[in-house]
Amino acid sequence: MSETSPKLRAELDGIPTYKPGKPAAAGGPAAYKLSSNENPYPPLPGVMETAMAAAQSFNRYPDMACTGLMNELADRFSVPLAHLATGTGSVGVAQSLVQSTSGPGDEVMYAWRSFEAYPIITQISGAKAVQVPLTAGEVHDLDAMADAISERTRLIFVCNPNNPTGTVVRRAELERFLDRVPSDVLVVLDEAYREFIRDPEVPDGIEVYRDRPNVAVLRTFSKAYGLAGLRVGFAIAHEPVAAALRKTAVPFGVTQLAQDAAVASLRAEDELLGRVGSLVCERSRVHESLVKQGWTVPETQANFVWLRLGDRTVDFAAACEQVGVVVRPFPGEGVRITIGEPEANDLLLRAAEEFRKTL
Ligand SMILES: *Cc1c(COP(=O)(O)O)cnc(C)c1O
Repeated sequence: MSETSPKLRAELDGIPTYKPGKPAAAGGPAAYKLSSNENPYPPLPGVMETAMAAAQSFNRYPDMACTGLMNELADRFSVPLAHLATGTGSVGVAQSLVQSTSGPGDEVMYAWRSFEAYPIITQISGAKAVQVPLTAGEVHDLDAMADAISERTRLIFVCNPNNPTGTVVRRAELERFLDRVPSDVLVVLDEAYREFIRDPEVPDGIEVYRDRPNVAVLRTFSKAYGLAGLRVGFAIAHEPVAAALRKTAVPFGVTQLAQDAAVASLRAEDELLGRVGSLVCERSRVHESLVKQGWTVPETQANFVWLRLGDRTVDFAAACEQVGVVVRPFPGEGVRITIGEPEANDLLLRAAEEFRKTL
């Protein structure tokens, strides 16, 4: 046996590990998980039955082309089938997008702080990450991003609304930015929280992509649709990009359970979107209450709020945990708090009010 270990790609050194939101403590007093932007509602009855039925045949491989789901999506969003690609969550699709466009010597750009998967999938590809700081108001600095485009830029993520700040990019500024991006650079509009947007000035990425061949839109069933555990997301992009995604996707990555549950969810959309509406009401209540308590909270269009607590971040997270609420701390920066069921939000608000006295 040789002394040395197998040679691994040097790019993998120092890749940050994805930190999943902490689970709520088992067996504790009312313990709520507000750390992963999940939907707090249990699966809808019809969706659950569909998934159970699909489970009857998990000795078989799934439909590799996701035919039923692709047809449903094409119909629902009025896009050609050739413009669709599915994946194991939209993170899986995002990774395929980076893999399809970027490698060593190339640059992948995104705002920072933004979704923590971006640095990971960029580094795996071997491309260089170009992180452009958010503005003081926690919003994408699109002018600075356009200025940072170089000959080597291959892909730019625009997370709208941005995770973890909840802030949005509006129509006029996005169009102005896209006009500045060279047509051979792919812009990915990551719209994981699209269904929670109520600001009419925030563009629907699917309208933006239609006459811009270098724009792709990422959507997921994990958040509003409540299928986080089943791992299914999709991209809408023009043909060469969507075809590249279908080529680079892990074969059979999306299970039949996930495919069938996603179709059933699209068909149960009225009921699902009713739940989203309730969460949006809770979001307003939590946001207003925090502001009333004296906190500075960026306006959010997602299912979470952001508190820039700086060096008090970890203390705040610990204080929340004491009352049975698990939030998502980014040490030294701030805390992201998912909007949950009203009881969970009440506990959070009480903890926040107490914590303010220590600031
Ligand atoms: C949650 C999230 C996703 C989607 O994750 P899945 O892989 O679909 O579960 C994508 N982008 C952002 C910004 C997210 O917050």
